[in-house]
Amino acid sequence: MAEVDEIRQEARRNTRARFEQWAKNPTCAANTLSAVHNVRLDAAAKALDLKTSFGQSPFAIARGNRFEAGLFIDDAVKLRKALERKECLPTDSKGFLDLRLKMNGGTRVKSVDEALQLTEDWLDEIAARPAEAESIVAAPMIRIPKGVILPEALLIVDVVTVVEQDGLAAIRVGEVKVFPDRGGHTDPQQLATARAQAGVYRHAFELAVTARGLTDRIKVADDGFLVFTWPGSNSPAVRAGEDLTYQAIRAERGFNRLEEVAQSLVRDDDFAGDDPALIRRVLDADTDYSEACLAFCDLAPRCHGRALNDDSPVLLGGEVKRLLGDTTITRSIELLNGAEPASDRERDLQRQVQGL
Ligand code: SF4
Repeated sequence: MAEVDEIRQEARRNTRARFEQWAKNPTCAANTLSAVHNVRLDAAAKALDLKTSFGQSPFAIARGNRFEAGLFIDDAVKLRKALERKECLPTDSKGFLDLRLKMNGGTRVKSVDEALQLTEDWLDEIAARPAEAESIVAAPMIRIPKGVILPEALLIVDVVTVVEQDGLAAIRVGEVKVFPDRGGHTDPQQLATARAQAGVYRHAFELAVTARGLTDRIKVADDGFLVFTWPGSNSPAVRAGEDLTYQAIRAERGFNRLEEVAQSLVRDDDFAGDDPALIRRVLDADTDYSEACLAFCDLAPRCHGRALNDDSPVLLGGEVKRLLGDTTITRSIELLNGAEPASDRERDLQRQVQGL
């Protein structure tokens, strides 16, 4: 029993990992159930006899932690240079605020409560004096203001920048990943997961700023930035100007769903381990497959197979899916080749695809 209690506590502490998993595809009900019930996706995949490969490798985690920690050494000098080079910050940017917990490599914040309080104080401070704001802030922690989500309902954003803009404090969210940045050849699935997470954080910041009544003093930028690595090194490669509008809209839909699922829970349910009934529930839930799934979810072969059967445009990536909507790939090709449209929607689509 003592051991079960220990595991239960660990599961609670591990909320961040569950939240991050959820953020990679917030509109998939199966993923939402998995995060809320703490049913691991690899356990669900095993129940279908699928090969599992996304169990967390301690080496990958250690490398990720090392990379992230290196960014913030000496008042984040390495990250600052990379951000200034990409014009995410002006060349004379100043100030670094470290809100990381000591257990996560921070220098002074000892507890979750302290991190939450310091983050709130920081929001009030930049709202009052945007010109004096530290330009880089590591790991602000937000309590999701929309009710209970996961046991702790907390979210830690990797990094944000703050600049003064028209007398307001403009916050821009950044997501740090140890993925290599290969310019136009960066792994599309890794990019999609990083963008999805950044969209969730952007939306969460909007909720937090609104909940604090600071919307007329703080602006959360529509775009964000991703911090990857230069291939073969631990130096940061910043991808600036990532438009997160679409991801933030998806995040909002996901947040609402997450809240519904969380509210339907009996509180003791939040540690489920590998309960077969809950695994079944995850397997039976609706899905919303996207290219991001291939980078984190062991159920991806099943969902990819379904998308193939459905001839779904999502197989060609999120942008193509946004363009084609529910029109199948085969039908889209027919329209592209001049088939007679069967509806106004198809006529519109034909005009768009033929004009590409
Ligand atoms: S692979 Fe399937 S179950 Fe997993 S997150 Fe994607 S859509 Fe959901």
